[in-house]
Amino acid sequence: MNEQLKKLIRPHYQDLSGYVSAGMLGAKSNEKIYLNANENPYSLPGLKGMNRYPEPQPAELLEAYAEAYGVQPGQVLATRGADESIKLLTRVFCEPHKDSVLIHPPTFGIYKVDAHSMPAEVVEVPLLEEAGTFHLDTEKIIETAKSKKAKIVYICSPNNPTGGAFDHEDILTICRELEDTSAIILDEAYVEFSDQGSLSEKLEEHPNLIILRTLSKAYSLAGVRMGVTLCADEDFIAFMKEKVSEIYPLPRPSVTAALRALSKESKEDFQKNIKAILAERERLTEALRTSRLIKKVYHSDSNFLLVKLDKDMVQEFVGFMAENDMILRDFSDKPETQGCIRITVGSPEQNDYLLNLMKRFEDKLAAAQA
Ligand SMILES: *Cc1c(COP(=O)(O)O)cnc(C)c1O
Repeated sequence: MNEQLKKLIRPHYQDLSGYVSAGMLGAKSNEKIYLNANENPYSLPGLKGMNRYPEPQPAELLEAYAEAYGVQPGQVLATRGADESIKLLTRVFCEPHKDSVLIHPPTFGIYKVDAHSMPAEVVEVPLLEEAGTFHLDTEKIIETAKSKKAKIVYICSPNNPTGGAFDHEDILTICRELEDTSAIILDEAYVEFSDQGSLSEKLEEHPNLIILRTLSKAYSLAGVRMGVTLCADEDFIAFMKEKVSEIYPLPRPSVTAALRALSKESKEDFQKNIKAILAERERLTEALRTSRLIKKVYHSDSNFLLVKLDKDMVQEFVGFMAENDMILRDFSDKPETQGCIRITVGSPEQNDYLLNLMKRFEDKLAAAQA
């Protein structure tokens, strides 16, 4: 394993021996009879094959991910969504009551929740906002990560909930400057919606760079819980599989669904859906910008928009929408996103309904003021 990651791993993991389960010993052959795992020999109707434990990391799945993400199969750890990757990486790097992680608020909430569950300290370097876009405070992140000895620096790009992607050069500078001191976990959950694309081709140049991807957003599979951890260092990935991953993390139906979503058969629909979402994102952005209600629509490289309203109006607005069956995410009580709500880009019909409701709300306000 590369020295950079090796020295960040909690010491007790170094000599921990992993559990070897019956299912880990490779793919099952139809020629053999398996009486080694206490499985039920019978399947229930319509559930053929479900009586057997799944393979921990199916080779076919790792190959499909590798192909989709432009890496080698040995550089992929399959997890139950990117959420599980975050949990496993927090656990492997952060010594409870001792280590810290760095985040750039406003950002995805799970980094902090998982750190606190260790518990590990969370150090915050807020994003800088300039003319409707957020960017990384690169120098301060580097400086703070060094002074606080942050084991992990999370970068979410495109960022949830602000929507925009960060400059690749900034991200790579952070990787370089913190090469000997921090693992950089780059969360690319929304990267398929961004022109800039993924940084996976830079993995080989940065031993401390770890990338997260998921099938939940662009691949329409939030319900099956499939994601990955990518790292150039195959020894690190092998270590994660052996000593850190759950024993049987991936349910068979989820593996089947993931293979289907990543297959050639799905490619055309996958691309068509993304194109439709991007077109609707632009349409929604324009329409929202004309609304008197909305003070700002932030630039988005993802499948959602962060919009700013009058702070005093957010609750009433979100309440009105909910009464009309339109559920939006309220971020207005968080210090970095005051007055903001997050709107997922829906289908054209759903977005039309949203815009209609907004008009009705505006008319209601105007009537109340008259
Ligand atoms: C949705 C989301 C995830 C979670 O992905 P899962 O694969 O569904 O666990 C991870 N990171 C960010 C930033 C997200 O918004």
